[in-house]
Amino acid sequence: MSEIDSPLVLVIDDDPMVRLLASESLTTTGFRVIEAENADVGLRLLESERPDLVLLDVVMPGIDGFTACSRLRVTPHGQHVPVLMMTGLDDVTSIQHAYQVGATDFVTKPLNFTLLEFRLRYMLRAKAMGDELRQSEALLASAQRLAHLGHFAYLPDKGFSTWNTQTHSVLGLGTDCWVSTLPDLLRHVDANTHQDIIDSLTVTDGCINEEPVEFAVTGADGETRTILQHVVLERQDGGFRIIGTFQDITERRHAEQKIHRLAFYDRVTGLPNRIMIEKKLGELVHDADQTGDGVAVLSIDLDHFQRVNDNFGHETGNELLGALGRRLAGCVRVSDDRPRQHLRSVQAHDLVARSGGDEFCILLPGIVAAADVELVAQRIREALQQPFTVADQEFFITSSIGMAVYPSDGDTPEILLRHAELALAYAKRKGRDCAEFYNPQLNARAQARLTMETNLRQALGSDQLSLHYQPKLRVDTGELVGMEALVRWEHPTLGRIAPAEFIPIAEESGLILPLGEWILGEACRQVAEWRQRGLGNLCCAVNLSAAQFRERNLPLMIARVLQETHLDASQLQLELTESLLMEDVTAAQSMLRSLRDLGISLAVDDFGTGYSSLNYLKRLPLDVLKIDQSFIRELREDSDDAAIVEAVIAMAHSLRLGVVAEGVELDHQFEFLRAHRCDEVQGYLFSKPLPAQEFLEWVRARNLRRLTVIG
Ligand code: C2E
Ligand code: MG
Ligand code: MG
Repeated sequence: MSEIDSPLVLVIDDDPMVRLLASESLTTTGFRVIEAENADVGLRLLESERPDLVLLDVVMPGIDGFTACSRLRVTPHGQHVPVLMMTGLDDVTSIQHAYQVGATDFVTKPLNFTLLEFRLRYMLRAKAMGDELRQSEALLASAQRLAHLGHFAYLPDKGFSTWNTQTHSVLGLGTDCWVSTLPDLLRHVDANTHQDIIDSLTVTDGCINEEPVEFAVTGADGETRTILQHVVLERQDGGFRIIGTFQDITERRHAEQKIHRLAFYDRVTGLPNRIMIEKKLGELVHDADQTGDGVAVLSIDLDHFQRVNDNFGHETGNELLGALGRRLAGCVRVSDDRPRQHLRSVQAHDLVARSGGDEFCILLPGIVAAADVELVAQRIREALQQPFTVADQEFFITSSIGMAVYPSDGDTPEILLRHAELALAYAKRKGRDCAEFYNPQLNARAQARLTMETNLRQALGSDQLSLHYQPKLRVDTGELVGMEALVRWEHPTLGRIAPAEFIPIAEESGLILPLGEWILGEACRQVAEWRQRGLGNLCCAVNLSAAQFRERNLPLMIARVLQETHLDASQLQLELTESLLMEDVTAAQSMLRSLRDLGISLAVDDFGTGYSSLNYLKRLPLDVLKIDQSFIRELREDSDDAAIVEAVIAMAHSLRLGVVAEGVELDHQFEFLRAHRCDEVQGYLFSKPLPAQEFLEWVRARNLRRLTVIG
């Protein structure tokens, strides 16, 4: 309305008298009026002035009122404008005709202007309400379109009473298909959900199933949509009407599936991840309570997988993990075909998952005997042992497996998983390439290890740690040539804790890195100080653990320590174990070379216990072999150990390596070593490892003795 208080009325009548009277009386009652003497002019004014109301005469020369009304109804502005037709009194045919052509109402001539005003005001109010309704309908339609929502009304005995284009398009149905009954709808719906839809649209004992139904519809474009249907039952005129909505939730479901995939599946292998394992294990444990069967948890670790990543890159590593995952999945499917004699009763699904890094996890429900679990573990290890070809490379993988079974080894998913992992750690400690069951001692041990780890963390940087030094002597001259630095831990309440106890824990927890760095720094500082105090050019051997050796920046760290302590590199020797070197010979080779480049010497500790291949030894830049104490202990002429020691000395010499014997306690052992030209010795026969001050005193006392002897 142009001016809210004065609506604009268009009067179309060929009779100037009528126009004049209408105009006068309406203007005095607050209307504005424009006039047209025929339909043509009227239709033009309708578009240009956009009146709020039209008063239209029926009988006019040229275009009559009926034709004018139907023309007006198809113009943009004329569609909803109220049209009051002026007919003759009792002219029933005209009145009928007027409604047919779209008139809003009629008045009879001659006009009663007092009543006319009320009539017009009423029509304007009705128009305003109509406008509001239309607007709200348009809003609803837009909102429904945005929400991918359509609605319907359904009469149980008749079919769909409301079903609009939006409803139709939400389901993706073509314009050529017609939905008016339940079977019409079901024709497009996935058969699995027919019954749910029927239940939601069938009144039984005055009720329907109002549970939301999710179903799949195949639309005209061939695409499958996921539709969510909600319904409510309404009573109406003694009967029932069901009002419902369809919502297209395809995108939402896709997004949910994607989130689900990201949250519960591993991207590298496509297998379920750790979170999923816990969830599934919870379900399996619950089911097992009903059936009385057991559930086995297998924690699988690929031995030395890190090497694949280090040597071939992560991409190859990931590809190999994918292949491993597929083979594992194949394993448990196969395991379901195993003979049944005493095997698993129910055939619930096994689950293969990647629990992280190079670890996999398998859940086996329906276990009746522990032997079955072992059988599967055996099968898995055998399957993994078959070579893998990835990126034109052949890979040989061995695996370690820890096993825990519900209910005997734990009653919650978390405990079962932890116990399977403890068993795995145990299998790895036993030397890998094996499968081990959980046992309660492992738990006690794990507790103790954890306490030890906490204590050790506190000990670092306190005065609980110190170094002892054990002298090393030349066999032929008896001259002191150096010492081995050995770490000591004196706990304030637990007393002395042996390195054999805490070094492995330091290695597992990563504490060995700060600890090892401290040991190295302290040894270098001490030896540099002794040199200043005139102790000579002694070479100090420091033990290096595997974790330190794998650190790429080890040479850098050592160079820094040497520089800071002003120690000459020739006064430092590193002791490495055989197994550490054999783990990855290629990597060891380049690391040893960088260490050697610093000017330090390298020794293989505990030699003879690690099955090292001579071929490999030859390829490594080493200086010294340290024969393991176990061979020295049983050293008698003609014993096996004597033969071994003799052979090791000869071999070392042929490779131009020096030989040190450690753990020399008795004279006859020393005599044997001297007879077979061992280069250096170390052991209780000469001295135990000593605190720094005592070592200094030991050296001084010895020098004094020797001077006295010589003097
Ligand atoms: P290892 O490097 O082979 O050290 C020699 C071990 O033999 C030392 O034990 C030493 O005290 C002991 N020993 C020396 N002479 C004799 C003897 O005549 N008879 C007997 N029965 N034993 C003798 P310790 O100090 O208990 O160290 C044990 C192992 O712990 C070492 O074996 C080494 O592998 C490790 N370890 C010790 N200190 C360190 C360290 O500072 N860093 C690292 N990474 N490992 C260390
Ligand atoms: Mg050693
Ligand atoms: Mg040793």
